[in-house]
Amino acid sequence: MNIHEFQGKSLLRAYGVGIQEGFVAETAAQAVMIAKQLREKFGTQLFVVKAQIHAGGRGKGGGVKLARSVEEAGEIAGRMLGIKLVTPQTGPEGKKVHKVLIAQDVYYKGAEEPKEFYISILLNRKTARYVVMYSPDGGMDIEQVAEKTPERIFTEEISPVTGLTSFQTRNIGFNLGLRGNAIKNMQIFLKGLYDTFSGCDAQLLEINPVLKTSDNKILAVDCKVVLDDNAMYRHPDLKEMRDLSEEDPVEVEAGKYGLNYVKLDGNVGCMVNGAGLAMATMDIIKLSGGSPANFLDVGGGASTQTVEAGFRIILRDPSVKAILINIFGGIVRCDRVAHGVVEACKSIGEIKVPVIVRLQGTNAAEAREIIDNSGLQVDSAITLGEASEKISKVLSVL
Ligand code: GDP
Ligand code: MN
Repeated sequence: MNIHEFQGKSLLRAYGVGIQEGFVAETAAQAVMIAKQLREKFGTQLFVVKAQIHAGGRGKGGGVKLARSVEEAGEIAGRMLGIKLVTPQTGPEGKKVHKVLIAQDVYYKGAEEPKEFYISILLNRKTARYVVMYSPDGGMDIEQVAEKTPERIFTEEISPVTGLTSFQTRNIGFNLGLRGNAIKNMQIFLKGLYDTFSGCDAQLLEINPVLKTSDNKILAVDCKVVLDDNAMYRHPDLKEMRDLSEEDPVEVEAGKYGLNYVKLDGNVGCMVNGAGLAMATMDIIKLSGGSPANFLDVGGGASTQTVEAGFRIILRDPSVKAILINIFGGIVRCDRVAHGVVEACKSIGEIKVPVIVRLQGTNAAEAREIIDNSGLQVDSAITLGEASEKISKVLSVL
């Protein structure tokens, strides 16, 4: 589960990590009020207005702008709210900006130049450990650093048993080129990051940039958090941070019915029970000359309603030219699925693409009868080979 920058920063604050202070606004008037508060509370004169969308690269796409006064903060917010922001990570269609973060500028110049670092914590599945990935060359061009000077990206593995130790945080500080107070502040910062990461059951915590201010404070200027969906039952408060407007509406709809749906870019829609069988079915579609339009696992206990919902979701995709339903009736009975398919076809009305149904297992014969006697243009198959041949045939006349 992804959350917004301002939500991520509220978690960081709760774990004692220094952040660029700010509040979120949904209108220009709110933005003005927030800027005024920041001016009164912190003496802030320069503000930064940041579009809150679930995508990075906002700096490059015009979603991070500096304002020189309270009024200007309001004007920029007014212009940014409601637009579709296009960044290197959103795709050409962009993402609509519903909220902006009004924050204090922390790049003031003093005795020393402010400096940007990259720091993230993630899971290394190979070693079954957490890893801190960091670079002294943080900021908007971190992808280029990774490509051109990979030796400038360092890693520090963390044992989940000991957690992040002081000698490790000191080592990171040295590799980032820090000294004296800055090292101490970085150690506190890193400890807080690790506490946030483990306390929230995150899969990824990425801060780019981490800023060393000219007076040696260490602050998170940006914050990307991916939370582990499987741990959300332990965090009802974090679960509420989910912003459905940022997610693919079809995947959200599928989630409501407990369906595991992932949109792909092929032409054959498929509905399968069980993730393994779904993968095998996608292979079959490929071998038959097609390419899967989606992954859809209806789960072990598929009911008429879930099958109907799955069917409707597949049909929403205009690139679907044929549908293959492949169900192995173990826990779920084939006749139940067949009823679901027939009900769905009837309630949807005319289905313009060929549908091939392969039902095998418990009550397969009854299921086949239901499909064949339904009067619908639905073709049934018994073996996977048969199903595959039928798909090839359908695709060959497209
Ligand atoms: P991203 O582009 O989506 O990753 O958004 P970031 O939050 O990382 O902001 C992009 C860039 O804006 C940063 O790399 C900074 O260089 C710049 N930036 C962010 N906050 C401030 C600020 O308070 N003052 C100044 N001068 N620049 C900022
Ligand atoms: Mn960033």
